[in-house]
Amino acid sequence: MALLSATSPAKAHFSALFLCHDEPQHGHALPPAPHPQCSGAGNRLRARGRWSVSAAVAPAPAGAKEEEKRKPRVLVAGGGIGGLVFALAARRKGYEVTVFERDLSAVRGEGQYRGPIQIQSNALAALEAIDMSVAEEVMRAGCVTGDRINGLVDGISGSWYCKFDTFTPAAERGLPVTRVISRMTLQQILARAVGDDAILNGSHVVDFIDDGSKVTAILEDGRRFEGDLLVGADGIWSKVRKTLFGHSEATYSGYTCYTGIADFVPPDIDTVGYRVFLGHKQYFVSSDVGAGKMQWYAFHKEEAGGTDPENGKKKRLLEIFSGWCDNVIDLINATEEEAILRRDIYDRPPTINWGKGRVTLLGDSVHAMQPNLGQGGCMAIEDGYQLAVELENAWQESVKSGTPMDIVSSLKRYEKERRLRVAIIHGLARMAAIMATTYRPYLGVGLGPLSFLTKLRIPHPGRVGGRFFIMIGMPAMLSWVLGGNSSKLEGRPLSCRLSDKANDQLYRWFEDDDALEQAMGGEWYLFPISEGNSNSLQPVRLIRDEQRAISFGNRSDPSDSASSLALPMPQISERHATITCKNKAFYLTDLGSEHGTWITDNEGRRYRVPPNYPVRFHPSDVIEFGSDQKAMFRVKVLNTLPYESARRGKQQQQQQVLQAA
Ligand SMILES: Cc1cc2nc3c(=O)[nH]c(=O)nc-3n(C[C@H](O)[C@H](O)[C@H](O)COP(=O)(O)OP(=O)(O)OC[C@H]3O[C@@H](n4cnc5c(N)ncnc54)[C@H](O)[C@@H]3O)c2cc1C
Repeated sequence: MALLSATSPAKAHFSALFLCHDEPQHGHALPPAPHPQCSGAGNRLRARGRWSVSAAVAPAPAGAKEEEKRKPRVLVAGGGIGGLVFALAARRKGYEVTVFERDLSAVRGEGQYRGPIQIQSNALAALEAIDMSVAEEVMRAGCVTGDRINGLVDGISGSWYCKFDTFTPAAERGLPVTRVISRMTLQQILARAVGDDAILNGSHVVDFIDDGSKVTAILEDGRRFEGDLLVGADGIWSKVRKTLFGHSEATYSGYTCYTGIADFVPPDIDTVGYRVFLGHKQYFVSSDVGAGKMQWYAFHKEEAGGTDPENGKKKRLLEIFSGWCDNVIDLINATEEEAILRRDIYDRPPTINWGKGRVTLLGDSVHAMQPNLGQGGCMAIEDGYQLAVELENAWQESVKSGTPMDIVSSLKRYEKERRLRVAIIHGLARMAAIMATTYRPYLGVGLGPLSFLTKLRIPHPGRVGGRFFIMIGMPAMLSWVLGGNSSKLEGRPLSCRLSDKANDQLYRWFEDDDALEQAMGGEWYLFPISEGNSNSLQPVRLIRDEQRAISFGNRSDPSDSASSLALPMPQISERHATITCKNKAFYLTDLGSEHGTWITDNEGRRYRVPPNYPVRFHPSDVIEFGSDQKAMFRVKVLNTLPYESARRGKQQQQQQVLQAA
């Protein structure tokens, strides 16, 4: 402490104690943060090494009266989402802010692998209230997912379990619709808006001292900085938290999580935003992130600390998720090994007290949550908004009453405002993992000696009952998560963007799985899957043309060779079956063949198609002509050709598929 200012505590209250060779020594309330392109931006980011410990000693301020009118100086440990959003909010209200960030580039570096982040309506609205132009920039850079169907599906069959309406809660409350945005882009937008002059890169906060009238942040390299309050936004392994409350272990969720991002466009990209594929002790999440890419998370229940051999992640995932629906397998296959990252998932239940004296916590440092709801970063954004509001309220009170600003009480009010909402959302985020632990798609799953029952594919009663409760509880829960904070936001108009309009059919898709399937884009194919026949059978492309049927027989019909397909095999009748299209759905008609035409649906139920009666089939169904399993095809709908094609060269495969059709 010997290096600290000789200023008396009373005067140090609002005094300028950040010093840099090229900065003014007397601070004052800042105007709105300068635009990054403005001259001078970047000084702080480049300033590492030019600071000296002695430079952190401030001279006594020139005029005590003037000093008293100055807004508090805010120190922020951590320049992640939470730290930057709070810094922006505080700067916009005229506070002088310094963000200490251990390594901005490391955040960016990791961001490459962590991939995009979902910023939901509640957080976008908070951003709008903080700074409309920054919110607009984030929204422009993001990919809207909230205007589509999102929800839970069964991992094995791919059938919808529960669809989430994230659009209505936003539209009803005049909030922006949920987006997904690259973490790097988000960080760049926020950092630029905060201003490089306020961000001290390469500064690792290891300790602090709160002497009751000011706080001193102590960096790893010995530098010290004084301010009027310190906000610990330094993430789940927060040093500020540790100094405040002592060491405490983060809680292991029980799940390890593989994440990946792939160049892959599923055929239902226009109708489905994200999907959570449920399984027993494992689940998988896929989300459109725009620009022809899909992001996914694969969760698997196991001990923490597991590792994979080199180039072993993809192989392991394909084993863990073997037998799951095509949506999952195709996505894993389409992902490069290097784009797969593994991490164990921890969280931290929020404590009653978020801070002490002039120090408080924000974001993951106080309430790191499991990523299942996609709300961890959103809660950090809401925190940032609220903290700035409480500081400003306290400031206004002090101006009105002519008394010193009561920082300590304002921090207490902030945590009081945030505590309940954050605790509930933290609990909800844990629920998905609990759900996966208890979820059993079929009778027999997780039953050890009785697991042979799984083969019967009898839906587990828990799955049926659980669905009932989710269907009832989910709309209210979503409405509260997405819109429950909106009444607290000041300074934003209650309005949705015209660009956030959903498809007219959205509500129909919620009710009707068949309509959702019909709205899907992509091309329909029959891919041969009979063992040992891979060379004699070729993929078949089905054409959405109501005037043309494709006929299957043991030889092709010379009068209509374009639409007739020969399967020269013993069990195929001369005129065996046809496939027709109506209203973008495909139907299979058996023409009274001797050995029949069979469908195995995505729940594993195999049945014979009745003669001369068109039966609708769906993606992932298996169609068999004859019963000897020699002419079997899997129905697949693809926007991007399958992964095998990527290796062999798209054009070649495309030609093959088209020729076969
Ligand atoms: C797989 C996964 C997916 C997720 N998906 C979503 C999602 O879709 N939507 C969502 O809202 N949330 C999501 N989250 C959660 C979200 O990433 C976090 O909640 C969010 O990043 C928290 O922001 P923060 O600023 O509090 O902490 P962080 O983002 O961890 O930032 C902390 C910052 O502090 C810096 N720092 C750390 N220690 C120090 C120190 N001692 N001194 C100086 N600087 C320091 C770090 O370098 C970092 O920049 C996900 C999380 C995971 C793991």
